[in-house]
Amino acid sequence: MTDRLDLAAHLRYYEEMGVQGISRDARWRQRGAATNAPNAPNVPNAPNVPNASSAIRLTEIRADIGDCTRCKLHSGRTHIVYGVGNPEATLMFVGEGPGADEDLQGEPFVGRAGQLLTQIIKAMGFAREEVYIANVVKCRPPGNRNPEPDEIAQCEPFLHAQIAAIRPRVIVALGKFAAQTLLATDTPISRLRGQFHQLRDVHVMPTFHPSYLLRNPAAKREVWEDMKMVIARLKDEARGPKDEG
Ligand code: URA
Repeated sequence: MTDRLDLAAHLRYYEEMGVQGISRDARWRQRGAATNAPNAPNVPNAPNVPNASSAIRLTEIRADIGDCTRCKLHSGRTHIVYGVGNPEATLMFVGEGPGADEDLQGEPFVGRAGQLLTQIIKAMGFAREEVYIANVVKCRPPGNRNPEPDEIAQCEPFLHAQIAAIRPRVIVALGKFAAQTLLATDTPISRLRGQFHQLRDVHVMPTFHPSYLLRNPAAKREVWEDMKMVIARLKDEARGPKDEG
């Protein structure tokens, strides 16, 4: 019974988003051999260790963060929320910062907004474990206030180091803070979304944050339009030079 209710809720969600079909072909979701070539972005504060696997690099970056006291957010946190998912992911999601649930559990996007993000990821044809999920700031801003510029400045190098380790093809920037931080701009999210931007060799698709979607469900359709562009870009890239033309 619960399964049927879950399925009904899932289908209703797809309908709200305007999802019209799902590809069962898993090939485009996997990283092709050619993409293992070293193409890590050359980021200041994100040392590139040749031949270090993504998983090892991620562990090293987490060790660098340590029991961080670099900014004032450390005093109110329960857990540092580093990131979760596949170290070899072709698709990465970046949010703003942990909320109360994430702070307690030490994992990004596990609260209500996280459940919505997980549904979006599934609607795209991925399991949550196949992508990588991280935030701009790794400690919870008190009372869910916005992260402040000095806090972002301290934490941002670790996000760039994570991106350099994972080398995703596409990053979905969830909301204003992720999009503006990654793209170093103050352009509003409403103008950034709906098109790809470049962060070195990574395609960045800004879209509305899942928390915004909880308050404005009508915007799910725009997010789904953005996610369809992401799926198409991943498929294009997976096809590789041989299949082109
Ligand atoms: N919102 C975010 O931006 N990140 C999380 O991890 C949870 C909610």
